[in-house]
Amino acid sequence: MAGAETGRFAPSPSGRMHLGNLFSSLLAWLSAKAAGGRVVLRIEDLDTRRCTRAYADQLEADYRALGLVWDEGGSSGGSHGPYYQSRRGKLYAAALESLRRKGLVYPCFCTRAQLHAASAPHREDGRTVYSGACRTLTSAQAEERARIRPPAFRLRVPDREIGFQDGHLGRYAENLERDCGDFLLRRSDGLWAYQLAVVVDDAAMEITQVVRGSDLLSSTPRQLYLYDLLELTPPEFYHVPLLLSPAGRRLSKRDGDLSLEVLLARSTPADIIGKLAYLAGLNPTAEPRTPESLLPDFSWDKISKGDIFLPEELFS
Ligand code: GLU
Repeated sequence: MAGAETGRFAPSPSGRMHLGNLFSSLLAWLSAKAAGGRVVLRIEDLDTRRCTRAYADQLEADYRALGLVWDEGGSSGGSHGPYYQSRRGKLYAAALESLRRKGLVYPCFCTRAQLHAASAPHREDGRTVYSGACRTLTSAQAEERARIRPPAFRLRVPDREIGFQDGHLGRYAENLERDCGDFLLRRSDGLWAYQLAVVVDDAAMEITQVVRGSDLLSSTPRQLYLYDLLELTPPEFYHVPLLLSPAGRRLSKRDGDLSLEVLLARSTPADIIGKLAYLAGLNPTAEPRTPESLLPDFSWDKISKGDIFLPEELFS
């Protein structure tokens, strides 16, 4: 339907979902559905050494069990497929080629150790900024080096602020040169970089709203720069709080006790959804809820902007 919202789940099948992944997915589903829209499932399996089809199938089973039903994508297919990034290399190659024709792509031969030693300055938040070591290589020098080591490919970034209005967090901007440096489009081992793939795919799949964890907030200016260069229309972005373990760490796939495998074994789907909705500010108590039952009262205004501590006892 023209004009309707399309949201997405974009999980990486490198393990079982944890509560933080599920929290973002729940909010993505509610946001799209509350607006009368649809949800696409795209499997982000670019890293073919860590991602498996078995995990992708398990993610689908988990979403279904929790009542987070998607309208298009994953193994159900649809008109914007394939929905597995590992099968979309041709599209990424075409985008890389169009950036190359603009003179904005260069090969990078830096090793991991060189990157670590030379990437200066390190920002306060621990992110490193690419030094630009390979930016000025002549084509003769690049050819010479390519005989020894296959290159990665980087995008030249401008010395200017790129900002946007996040639907949940408000204005956010970065100077790409100062805060990030020339970033990777393709790695030296041939794997496509997340930044390129996510832009190509969200545009090709006609996604109108991206709801995801705030750990990806600082990726957004890079992605907006790519939308601009590739002449694609960007979606709206909503970055949602991260869930922190009682010790204050961000949840990760290593937090086995908060993986869905363990949680679904000892509680019902409605228990889990009800508790997450409570943490989000969308359920007055931690009582069990279905995703549908949360739709009438869904509002971004109710949701915290800061990260959320998981109370020790809530899921134990
Ligand atoms: N695949 C990413 C993840 O699982 C999400 C990327 C995105 O939402 O843009 O963390």
